[in-house]
Amino acid sequence: MNIRVLGAHNCERQGLKLVSLLVDEVLAIDAGSLTSSLSLEEQKKIRAILLSHQHYDHVRDIPILAMNLFLSGAATRIYSIPAVGDALARHLLNEEIYPDFRQKPEQNPTLKLTVIEPHKAEQVEGYSVLAVPVKHGVPAVGYQVTAAGGQALFYTGDTGPGLASCWRQVSPQLLIIEVTASDKYTEWAADAGHLTPALLKQELESFREINGYLPQVVAVHMNPALEEQIAVEIAAVAQVLGCSITLGYEGMELSI
Ligand SMILES: [Zn+2]
Ligand SMILES: [Zn+2]
Repeated sequence: MNIRVLGAHNCERQGLKLVSLLVDEVLAIDAGSLTSSLSLEEQKKIRAILLSHQHYDHVRDIPILAMNLFLSGAATRIYSIPAVGDALARHLLNEEIYPDFRQKPEQNPTLKLTVIEPHKAEQVEGYSVLAVPVKHGVPAVGYQVTAAGGQALFYTGDTGPGLASCWRQVSPQLLIIEVTASDKYTEWAADAGHLTPALLKQELESFREINGYLPQVVAVHMNPALEEQIAVEIAAVAQVLGCSITLGYEGMELSI
């Protein structure tokens, strides 16, 4: 399984993009930077998109991707919990901000929205996909994506601390987890549904207690202004836990 980190941040500026992952060129996870990172040909290859939650930094490129696909006569499928589909329909694809590509073209709509039920593994384009609820300000899920060969990644999406029940349901080789802020903001983060390196350490200890090992860990969704400090603090966490934790970056390629 090859994973490209298209965007690794929670804000955008030159060179830094909003969170998106691309698995084996065909399966996208979150849509913060799909159009700005991918050629039209690459966009047309996306057969399915898993959305973790409705926040703008995770869904932003859906309308423009849809327009690109619509103009090319292509289509794709979006998997998400009901709240995300509802928010897309109400706020973005509402014929006011942008066309409703769930209905256009009539015979073969560009976007096919499919509801994914948490806790129930589903087959998506040859992968087994398991949505697992996480703690955030709006309904949100992380996704475990397992390839036919058994390789699995788990992407948390945005989440606050308290992932024990989540860890009981997944066993990935690669964990892509959000770390939005540095330790100075731990209280804010816990409240807002985000993680800091200190909170990450607790969550990884909980993972190890439940699963008996630690996966390769890649942090994403960093606030660019805090990234330097996050890197210092994460290096310390990796040393204490004796595991590999790296900061994701735009263009990073991972393979499991
Ligand atoms: Zn969010
Ligand atoms: Zn976010």
